[in-house]
Amino acid sequence: MKLLSSFLMTFMACAVMADKPIAIVIHGGAGTIERSQLSAEKEAAIKKDLNQALNTGYAALEAGQDAMEAVVAAIMILENSENFNAGKGAVYTREKGHELDASIMRGSDLQAGAVAGVKYTKNPILAARAVMLHSPHVMLAGAGADAFSKARGLDQVENSYFDTEARFEAWKKVDEKTRQKGRKEAAVSDVLDHEFKFGTVGAVAIDRQGHIVAGTSTGGMTYKAWGRIGDSPVIGAGTYADDRSCGISATGHGEYFIRYAVAHDICARVLYQGKSLAQAADEVINQTLKSVGGDGGIIGMDPQGRPVMMFNTAGMYRGFKTSDETYVAIYGDEKVAD
Ligand code: ASP
Repeated sequence: MKLLSSFLMTFMACAVMADKPIAIVIHGGAGTIERSQLSAEKEAAIKKDLNQALNTGYAALEAGQDAMEAVVAAIMILENSENFNAGKGAVYTREKGHELDASIMRGSDLQAGAVAGVKYTKNPILAARAVMLHSPHVMLAGAGADAFSKARGLDQVENSYFDTEARFEAWKKVDEKTRQKGRKEAAVSDVLDHEFKFGTVGAVAIDRQGHIVAGTSTGGMTYKAWGRIGDSPVIGAGTYADDRSCGISATGHGEYFIRYAVAHDICARVLYQGKSLAQAADEVINQTLKSVGGDGGIIGMDPQGRPVMMFNTAGMYRGFKTSDETYVAIYGDEKVAD
């Protein structure tokens, strides 16, 4: 009898576990992404990367791995691709180098890790996870963050590993404009406002246990100077996760996302105002941010495993995978089927 009841309990626990929906949602940056700017080959290459990231992350969830594994696996694929402004393919700083930011947060216990301004860590998302799992801190920056990731045995590369021709061309354009304007700081921020290209990457996943994890990785903004750090490694701005409300990864003009604490604001509206994630995201992205000129978007996941993608720019590289749908899109007019 005892054996039978323990068998039944295990069976019921498994059934409950199997019922929890798994899902993953990703982005590869939001911005002025229009059809006229992307060749068919480039578009296909970007969609291939997005699909690979989704499939890899989802396969991890299906295999019973936790949302942390899924998010890291998906982000690493995008970091290793030249098509995105994260890892290989990161934008250039004013000094013609690369400084990378990343963060990750776990919704089950609000643990988080982040690195800012790393120069030699091949996959910054791994360093962010290591900070969370193997240090008493939440954020490490600069040389110390690289030294920590090296000490943890993570792959280190020369800074030139992150070089790509396309990003250098973007640097040259901004440099020329800045020189024309006499390199005044007002001019730099003016150029940044209008010329910066997005391409940050992020992922949010929910696993069979119902735990949500969100992660973000970026090269920041073209021509950034003086150790400028954006929202991506800032918990509450570019990344947030709380199993009770939602997980969010943002992309856009980081200064606005920091000042409006975008990722946390969206989750707070869900938690305290009982709003749906879609409504909360719409309010913050399309009302609050839009009204002040904060360009960008977010991806998010609610505790029921429903992905949300919201942006106030012309496009956002994005996609999600659930048990019954895989969706990948770039432009603003590509709607999710009802
Ligand atoms: N949010 C990033 C930053 O400000 C840039 C981006 O999303 O493209 O660093």
